[in-house]
This record gives sequence, structure tokens and C-alpha cells, in this order.
Amino acid sequence: MPKPVKTPRTRVVATTCNGCKQELFSRARHDFRSCKCGKTSVDGGYDYNKVGFDPNVGFTQRHRYVKATRQELYDDWNKRTDKFGILSPPVPEKDALPKKRPSRSDKQTEGWCNVIRKLPRRQ
Ligand SMILES: [Zn+2]
Repeated sequence: MPKPVKTPRTRVVATTCNGCKQELFSRARHDFRSCKCGKTSVDGGYDYNKVGFDPNVGFTQRHRYVKATRQELYDDWNKRTDKFGILSPPVPEKDALPKKRPSRSDKQTEGWCNVIRKLPRRQ
């Protein structure tokens, strides 16, 4: 039986910002990157896993497989290709935070990450 062609993949620790829901990981030891709302940042590559976060927002982590070798990921960072590193697709406009000025009820929350509201469930 022929062996299936193995797609190169690398296991990474993916961190999702609970604020903007962007999922990101660090591709190299010095690859420091932040999510688009800036509340969550990752650093450390595979040597150590460092997460900077806003305790009011929080983050979640899980393992993900990226279709690339470690070397490719490293090069992606090193050469600033930036093809990898952000796992989640960009947030669709409609789910993104309102660009208009926040309504009165939003004013008491601090930072625009906290303004995300759960959509009401349809009955
Ligand atoms: Zn964020």
C-alpha cells in the first residue's frame, strides 16, 4: 500500500483573543504579535509560550496544526511574509465592532474590546 503523501504541518499553540476573536500564534522565539484589538499578544515561538492579555478580556488557547514546516514558519516571520501567524479569518464587517460612536449603553465599558455583545438568539 502506498504511503499517503504527508503534508508538512507544525503543531502550534494558538491563542484566541476573547475580545476580537482573532486567533494567533508566535512563529519564532522573537515573533511578538498582537491581535487586531491589541488586547492579546503572543511571543516566544516554540521555546516558550508567552501571552500578554487584558484580564478584562481574557484569552483561550488550543493546539492547532499549521500546514507548514517550522522552517517555513520561521522564514515567514523572518522575511516578513506574514502569510502565517493569524489563524482565524478576518472578522466579517457585520460582526466587527461598530465603527460608529458607541451608544449610550456602551459608554460605561472601558476599551472597545469590551463592547462586543452577544447577538440575541432567535426564538
Ligand atoms: Zn483582540
